[in-house]
Amino acid sequence: MPRPNYISAESYTMSLMLRDLDRLTGCTFDVLVVGGGIYGLTIAYDAAQRGLSVALVERNDFGSGSTFNHLRTIHGGLRYLQSLDIARARESIRERRTTARIAPQAVRPLPFAVPLYRSLTRGKMAMRAGFLLDRLIAMDRNRDVLASHCLPGGRVVSRGDATQRFPGLKRQGLTGAAVFYDYVTTEPDRLTFSFAMAAAEHGAVLANHVEAVAPLLDGQRVVGVTARDALGTRTIEIAARLTVNATGGRVDGLLKPLGITSGIPMLKAMNLVTRRDAGDEALGGRSPSGRNLFLVPWRGRALFGTWESDRRCDPDDTTAPERDVAAFIAELNQAFPALDLTLADVTLVHRGVVPAVVQGGRVGLQGHEQVRDHAAEGFAGVISVAGTKFTTARGVAERVTDAVMVKLQQTPVPCRTSTTPLPGGSLRDIGQAIADARREFDEGLPTDTIPHLIAAYGSRYRDVMDIAAARPDLRTRIAPDSPVIGAELVLAARREMAPTLADSVIRRTPLGALGHPGDAALTTAAAIVGGELGWSEERRREEIAAVDRVYGTLNASKT
Ligand SMILES: Cc1cc2nc3c(=O)[nH]c(=O)nc-3n(C[C@H](O)[C@H](O)[C@H](O)COP(=O)(O)OP(=O)(O)OC[C@H]3O[C@@H](n4cnc5c(N)ncnc54)[C@H](O)[C@@H]3O)c2cc1C
Repeated sequence: MPRPNYISAESYTMSLMLRDLDRLTGCTFDVLVVGGGIYGLTIAYDAAQRGLSVALVERNDFGSGSTFNHLRTIHGGLRYLQSLDIARARESIRERRTTARIAPQAVRPLPFAVPLYRSLTRGKMAMRAGFLLDRLIAMDRNRDVLASHCLPGGRVVSRGDATQRFPGLKRQGLTGAAVFYDYVTTEPDRLTFSFAMAAAEHGAVLANHVEAVAPLLDGQRVVGVTARDALGTRTIEIAARLTVNATGGRVDGLLKPLGITSGIPMLKAMNLVTRRDAGDEALGGRSPSGRNLFLVPWRGRALFGTWESDRRCDPDDTTAPERDVAAFIAELNQAFPALDLTLADVTLVHRGVVPAVVQGGRVGLQGHEQVRDHAAEGFAGVISVAGTKFTTARGVAERVTDAVMVKLQQTPVPCRTSTTPLPGGSLRDIGQAIADARREFDEGLPTDTIPHLIAAYGSRYRDVMDIAAARPDLRTRIAPDSPVIGAELVLAARREMAPTLADSVIRRTPLGALGHPGDAALTTAAAIVGGELGWSEERRREEIAAVDRVYGTLNASKT
């Protein structure tokens, strides 16, 4: 008998995520998570999997904050070795491997090349020593990982090799290049959403477009929140024994009515999605100010990151002013001399707010998650969590959930999120899965759709095909340069809690991932989603205008 091309995950209840605010009221949850970014979602999933009753509210859509804006790399923290921060590097290596194990469809190995110039601390010798150390501490980096996902160790290549591979490199003083491997996630928003599905499938009650406006108090104890339905007029009270404030940059917003702050400063970070073609390798460069910058190939385009502001920012200000974008482009052109990037190349500006550290008047990225139990400021029943990396969110959630179990005086239950495949994550041969799906379903589909469906939905791609089978009109592309087909939008609206057009076209599917998908594509998408959700003509127009506004504020031009 042929072996099935999947491992038996624990049996999930079939995913049907309905937005039902009544389920948030009328009971007291063990844990209420405020914020549906990667940190809130991983905490909700872990707590639900350990048997706690869990609710989560997100003021916009799941994964629409900083989580939407990351550089798509799941990295093993090689740079932490420079400061000999072995613990942090180990955590990154462990979580990188965990992602490849629980969601192999969502990541693939990506080589990174960084040019080396004559230098004691950043030259060939230093890199060789770094790679030696990395091989030691990352010896288990491929344990239980699919053969296709095993990462080779880093190595130093010669000057000749470096110039041949990257003709645009600045040659003066060039001695070679460091080549190492990390993962890139091609469908990062589906990866984020799979944590939401996993939480829901373990019984958590999640709702997007619900904003927590103020904590509910019983004396000095926080006993939940008052929340507002952002898509309606309703205000509800959600009761919980413990509230986890995972609101990212807005961490102090929820605490304000209590008259306390987390004391966590924030800075802005930014990536640029461009219309430039990219090869198969990521390339590193160094700006004149000493910033490490990367060109990451993503969906065939060059993505550049990451720029950080040199001062604290207002956490509510997630704008990307043209002067900041222009300054970043200037830095990129210096770091990658043959690049000649202009504003016209930019199709989307990723930007978010991330925790900072202030030392001697200088502002830099915070390296470690910040967890605050506000009992210390006189308010029991609420903790705040501000994470620093997408890569390590699951591991942080494990530690936070351990602490939550203690606070709630629960019998300890071991964490299983590092060994349980995420929904769709049980494939054990991605190439075979693509080949099998092609054999069964390829006919009439755009050629690039099957690989996209496998990366986005993993073993659950049949959910899309079931819808497409019943409606052949949903087997065609929505936009000429995107593999997304109509059936995915129907699935999003019907079963994946995507009540707005923006949810469907920006996060449940990557139709708008590289920039505005174009007016014709949005009209088609609004007709499909609107047909499913019963929208009037006027509502469709409003939804399209709302998507346009998203790109408008992102300084993006149409692709
Ligand atoms: C430009 C950039 C590049 C990055 N690159 C990488 C990378 O390559 N690799 C990596 O590992 N990490 C990277 N990161 C870091 C990573 O993206 C973040 O650490 C992570 O996404 C933070 O997740 P979060 O859940 O804490 O915050 P968020 O994603 O911001 O989530 C917080 C959520 O809370 C919601 N919220 C706020 N207030 C309320 C309220 N009152 N009620 C309900 N909901 C509320 C928000 O809408 C938001 O969705 C990058 C970050 C940025 C900005």
